[in-house]
Amino acid sequence: MNTAEIITVGDELLIGQTVDTNSAWMGMQLSMTGIRVNRITSVSDRREEIINALNEALGRVQLVLMTGGLGPTSDDITKETLAEYFGTRLVTDPEVLAEITDRITRRNLEMNDNNRRQALVPECCRVLANHGGTAPGMLFEKDGKLVISMPGVPSEMKMIMQEHVLPMVSEMTRGRTIIHRNVMTYGTFEAKLAERLEGFEKELPASVKLAYLPAHGVIKLRLTGTGDNGPEVRRTVEEQVVKLYGIIPDVIYGEDEVTLEETVGKLLSVRNLTLATAESCTGGKIASLITSVPGSSGWFIGSVVAYSNSIKTGLLGVDPGTIRRYGAVSEECVREMAEGVLRLSGAEYAIAVTGIAGPDGGTPEKPVGTVWIAVASESGVIAERHRFADDRMINISRSAYTALNMLRKQIISS
Ligand code: AMP
Ligand code: MG
Repeated sequence: MNTAEIITVGDELLIGQTVDTNSAWMGMQLSMTGIRVNRITSVSDRREEIINALNEALGRVQLVLMTGGLGPTSDDITKETLAEYFGTRLVTDPEVLAEITDRITRRNLEMNDNNRRQALVPECCRVLANHGGTAPGMLFEKDGKLVISMPGVPSEMKMIMQEHVLPMVSEMTRGRTIIHRNVMTYGTFEAKLAERLEGFEKELPASVKLAYLPAHGVIKLRLTGTGDNGPEVRRTVEEQVVKLYGIIPDVIYGEDEVTLEETVGKLLSVRNLTLATAESCTGGKIASLITSVPGSSGWFIGSVVAYSNSIKTGLLGVDPGTIRRYGAVSEECVREMAEGVLRLSGAEYAIAVTGIAGPDGGTPEKPVGTVWIAVASESGVIAERHRFADDRMINISRSAYTALNMLRKQIISS
């Protein structure tokens, strides 16, 4: 029983009113206990849909987890449908009734028929107590297959999973190990990375799988190892991580969910270095990322949001002639911005960014998405021109992360 499926029930999931976070959470928990989730299905609160989904899922796997449709109102029909599906009738469970009565009277409310209906459970199921609400979880067993139905309310589902379901499934998968390791990269794109890792992928042991998970320019490489021998699985995955460092050292910035701003913070803090930023098109985004890391007052001095030319010249000391001659989005200007904020702050490192975030302001020579980024320190200034996207928010975000990545590379190479 190493594979499972999840069925979430509810009209609200299908019209986009509620995002199906239950599946994501259950999928993560199951995978950590060694269960592979084969498929996630969302269906409406309709009898035929629920029955079809159950038939299909039980045709593929032996463990099905469901949420939703257990409320006391007439739109929730999962419990009745399950009773029909397993050929049984609904009976009042005295323990559930006592718990509901207690819960209702403690809140000084009157029990009504809807409350009493919640104590009805299919006769053949095993009740999984719900200490967070009134609808209990239910476990059905038939022909060696298990169906577990839980309420849709995420906190109640989680309680039932943690108290009943996860201990049970980890018992079933005992001895099997699944290990995930994430290697975080920045400064490349998926197709390019896949090309560089072609040989690596070919040589991957059968017990290890590689996944590319891109988000906001960061590509997370997730290595998943499975097997019955825990230490061996761990060792095999570790060997592959080491191998990755050998192939793509230039783009790896960390492991296991670490962010670029955390990595940069750590690099600055262990070397006792400080940073300041001069930000035009990012409008303080870099400063915001840096200061989202606890302890950043130890390495961050401050930022000048130099949006207008008057702040660039007046506060940062950019030569007005530079802007006249080359424009505010130019290598010359970004260099002077970086030098200016370095002087002003007394920091060891400075980042400066100036660019055209869009949607307006682009020209044929400098289209929207053109961004100059500089990193300055006492050993000099390096500047790079980038061309990101047509979308304003993407340009701002990519500028900020690319600037952090340039700084990271500068620090480790000096
Ligand atoms: P129900 O058990 O169908 O009465 O669901 C109760 C509430 O839980 C719904 O109104 C939703 O807000 C929430 N809910 C139901 N299913 C999900 C799901 N798959 N993910 C997140 N929330 C859910
Ligand atoms: Mg519902």
